[in-house]
Amino acid sequence: MLSRIAFIGIGNMGWPMAARLVGAGFEVVACDAVPDRAGRFAGEVGGEAAADAAAAVRGANAVITILPTSKHVAEAVTAMGDALASGTLLIEMSSGSPTATRGIAESLAGRGVAVIDAPVSGGVPKAKTGELAIMLGGEAAAVARAEPVLRAMGTSLTHVGGVGAGQAMKALNNLMGAAGFLIGIEALLIGQRFGLDPALMVDVLNASTGMNSSTQRKFKQFVLSRRFDAGFGLELMAKDCSVAMEVARDTATPAPFAALCREMWASAVALLGPGQDHTAMAQLSERLAGETLGGGNRVA
Ligand code: NAD
Repeated sequence: MLSRIAFIGIGNMGWPMAARLVGAGFEVVACDAVPDRAGRFAGEVGGEAAADAAAAVRGANAVITILPTSKHVAEAVTAMGDALASGTLLIEMSSGSPTATRGIAESLAGRGVAVIDAPVSGGVPKAKTGELAIMLGGEAAAVARAEPVLRAMGTSLTHVGGVGAGQAMKALNNLMGAAGFLIGIEALLIGQRFGLDPALMVDVLNASTGMNSSTQRKFKQFVLSRRFDAGFGLELMAKDCSVAMEVARDTATPAPFAALCREMWASAVALLGPGQDHTAMAQLSERLAGETLGGGNRVA
């Protein structure tokens, strides 16, 4: 039974996910690179705060990582050092690179530490309610061991293959989300130039075959409202498209549309600068079109 969990990465997703574990009765030891973030979590939500990754994993029988990229995960694992004891289960929940995660799993196998990848979909709202979709990669026994912990955070748990398979699945899911967002914004811009009301267009799309997660949960809420604060970073979405292209290259799959999509998201990161929400991506298309969505028809 996994009871004491070191939770590394108390960010937009990590905070509400770790809070679900505290609520479910697990002993949570929080750790984050930003000074005092873990301390604030322990103060406001519960559990304990650790000063660094090594202190967090000491005495834990499971470790959860949910960090921006696999590079951050590798750094955190290095920082854990010998404090990461044999028998510990590492549950890597970042949207990371399958190849990098396999490398981490191989390097830890000799030390008796099992690794599974368990990236998530559903964003901050589903993280708060514990209704994430979790895509699992790893040995069946290790996945089964993690299940009671994951059930506190997600309602849809799908074991899709060996280590890295969950992250491949997640990257491909987000590639579709990224492409659906972009094509939807272009359609709204074309429609607005034609004289259609973009908010009304979103309503029509949501009752028609053009509907996707962006038309349902992003365009009115974060683009037409000009809030651009969905809680998922622009750089993270660009990274997900890059991971999807890495999988395409590794499998020798031609993916020209996906490549264009990745280039556009990477361009938006360069154009708009660091720290933007992914919904600010609309501003790249707006600048290319010389047209701002919403105009007099902004929707709160
Ligand atoms: P975030 O940037 O809000 O949080 C990441 C946290 O990790 C930060 O608090 C940062 O200080 C911390 N961190 C970085 N390096 C660290 C280290 N070495 N040790 C300890 N802490 C460290 O990111 P997020 O939005 O929470 O996303 C995390 C992961 O989940 C990403 O891979 C992202 O793609 C994925 N994801 C995010 C969402 C979302 O809606 N935000 C949804 C699904 C998946």
